[in-house]
Amino acid sequence: MMKTPTGNRSHIAIYGNRNSGKSSLFNQIIGQNIAIVSNVKGTTTDPVKKNMELLPFGPVVFIDTAGLDDEGLLGELRVEASEKILQRTDLAIYVHDSTNLDFDSFEKLKKEFKRFKINYLEVFNKIDLLEKEQLKQLQEKYPSALFLSSFNDKAVLNLKDKLVAILRKNEEEETLIGDLVPYNGKIVLVVPIDSEAPKGRIILPQVQVIRDALDHGIKTYILRDTELEEGLKDLQDIDLVITDSQAFKQVSKIVKKTPLTSFSILLARQKGDLAVFEAGASKIASLKKGARVLISESCTHNHSHEDIGRVKIPTLLNKKLGHQLNYDFKMGHDFPKELNYDLVIHCGSCMFNKKTMLSRIALCKENNVPITNYGVVLAYLNGILDDSLKIFK
Ligand code: SF4
Repeated sequence: MMKTPTGNRSHIAIYGNRNSGKSSLFNQIIGQNIAIVSNVKGTTTDPVKKNMELLPFGPVVFIDTAGLDDEGLLGELRVEASEKILQRTDLAIYVHDSTNLDFDSFEKLKKEFKRFKINYLEVFNKIDLLEKEQLKQLQEKYPSALFLSSFNDKAVLNLKDKLVAILRKNEEEETLIGDLVPYNGKIVLVVPIDSEAPKGRIILPQVQVIRDALDHGIKTYILRDTELEEGLKDLQDIDLVITDSQAFKQVSKIVKKTPLTSFSILLARQKGDLAVFEAGASKIASLKKGARVLISESCTHNHSHEDIGRVKIPTLLNKKLGHQLNYDFKMGHDFPKELNYDLVIHCGSCMFNKKTMLSRIALCKENNVPITNYGVVLAYLNGILDDSLKIFK
């Protein structure tokens, strides 16, 4: 389970002011001294992350963030980094210092929790330093909060149980193909092995589909695009063909009547919002010369002359529209706050959790900017979007 990719883990982030005991709590939860703890305000600078199994729930990543009341130029940058973590937070723990209560940061953050639809748990730390009467008053005033000392193992175990209960309540059955193909059904995966293919392995979206098929008792056949036509002659009653987006057009000519979709479209449905992406693609036709397009990729990789985001999609878009658009490229967690664009085109985001994509979709909505994704755009540009979405309708 420790090999579960970060994108498939629930993200639990710890927020609060400096010196509220966030890092001690983080260390106690994960059972290791990873975050540096001291009485000096602002000891946590960059967010600290640790993958762990939160039993009996499953794989999660805990994130310790810098204090929200940090000051100065560097302090502001640290607060900004903490706030960026919000976009990938599935569940937040807000830590109050019971001996030094200050609700300003909390009230501000609560608005962001609401904005990005983040569940949160309020924790009052350092209760061992309170008088009995003070504690009683706080408990009466904040009945749904947890009161603890991060050095009390039993209290931290209780906190973990609470986290598990919240995560389980919000857990959705997420499947890539389990709801599309019956048990014992057959799928063909088309995996081109060109200069873009990583040496000696297949990429994460393909691995995830294979695993999902195994989980759901679906028989899987894997072929390169170059052997597809011959290979299909050996196979009968295929329920679904799933191809790499770049080979979509070529593959659609070969499979004809069998339902066809792409890895990117499956991920778009699982990690994002297919209807939003479809609507985003429909705006392409109205993009004027020089329109601003943001191409956003969740992971950083070397770029080649065949790069899908930097080369193929811009070239195809310019060709389709008959004029040049203006492209900006962002990678990893670098997603701009100010979305001054006419369209955002996002990769399948297999390296990020669903929350990150949903937060980005929410930011686009706030800014009135349509958003779509690679697989949807390629299907649209190849005139096969409707066909590739049929299986979902
Ligand atoms: S660019 Fe996006 S879809 Fe492609 S491997 Fe990276 S995270 Fe996954």
